[in-house]
Amino acid sequence: MPEIISIGELIVDVMRMEVDDPLDEPGVFAGAFPSGAPAIFTDQCALLGRSAGFIGAVGNDDFGRMNIRRFEEHGVDTNWVAVSDELSTGCAFVTYFSNGDRRFLFHIGNSAASLLPEPPADYFEDCRCLHICGSSLSAGERMREGCYRAAELAWERGASISLDPNLRPELLGGAEAVRQVCEPILRRASLVLPSASEAEVLTDTDTAEDACRALLDRGVETVALKRGAEGCRIITRGASVDVPGYSVEAVDPTGAGDCFDAGFVVGMIEGLTLEECGQLANACGAAAATERGPMEGSLAREEAFERAGIG
Ligand code: ATP
Ligand code: MG
Repeated sequence: MPEIISIGELIVDVMRMEVDDPLDEPGVFAGAFPSGAPAIFTDQCALLGRSAGFIGAVGNDDFGRMNIRRFEEHGVDTNWVAVSDELSTGCAFVTYFSNGDRRFLFHIGNSAASLLPEPPADYFEDCRCLHICGSSLSAGERMREGCYRAAELAWERGASISLDPNLRPELLGGAEAVRQVCEPILRRASLVLPSASEAEVLTDTDTAEDACRALLDRGVETVALKRGAEGCRIITRGASVDVPGYSVEAVDPTGAGDCFDAGFVVGMIEGLTLEECGQLANACGAAAATERGPMEGSLAREEAFERAGIG
């Protein structure tokens, strides 16, 4: 059974070729690319050489087959990736704006992605970390309940729970709703990997510092605060470590956060120091940003450091 597991949306992204190309007019797209935040995370963990498994669903169609093939090429366990004959593989259309904004148009809740299978408890027997993404918690009740169930099963078997609160408050109807859907996961989480604004929304605070303190106060052991090109800050009750980012030519930030999460979780499982965890995470995040497409810049360890300009 896998030592790292994630659960949630396994979809494809179809993205605009140019910035400032709105979705409400005809235009040119690139893709489809394998995607879904927890899927990107799992794939990157496998690329880093760990045993990783995914719980999710695709349609019995070309996009679904592409996603399963990508996982299998990288060694992800797909025993609990269901294939639906009724619904098609989920997808997201994405466009970027020159001010850094992104706009997504999702087809997830009404797609195969929502049909999460329910693996038996023993799937979590060897699990050391179950990673939950806020995006999955906001993708409909069925997916949310599936994540909660998996978190309880994994936690009861001694796994750590990590949370990337990559929720979009506007999709959920506000910050209070974000806090509500994250609560059952946060109760179990020992590692949280937010951006500054996500941490503030999650804890109802005004600064990243207060947000991190609030997370530690409620029992989280480690906060890995993502800071884009600047890297990350890692905060525990006893330490605060800034790990500078690597300088790369970024072409597409989508997926960087999830690859960062994977690097960090793998580092912790391997017993690396906080600083080393931050370095591996930053290298994976930086490499991810160098290619168009959410998983296209996911690399094995040496290659990720090389792409980040190290070694
Ligand atoms: P996502 O779009 O995947 O949700 P995010 O907003 O969660 O991303 P970011 O802070 O943008 O997270 O990126 C995650 C990590 O990836 C950063 O902490 C950093 O290590 C790395 N990274 C992202 N962008 C760059 C960049 N332009 N240059 C170098 N490293 C980067
Ligand atoms: Mg993110």
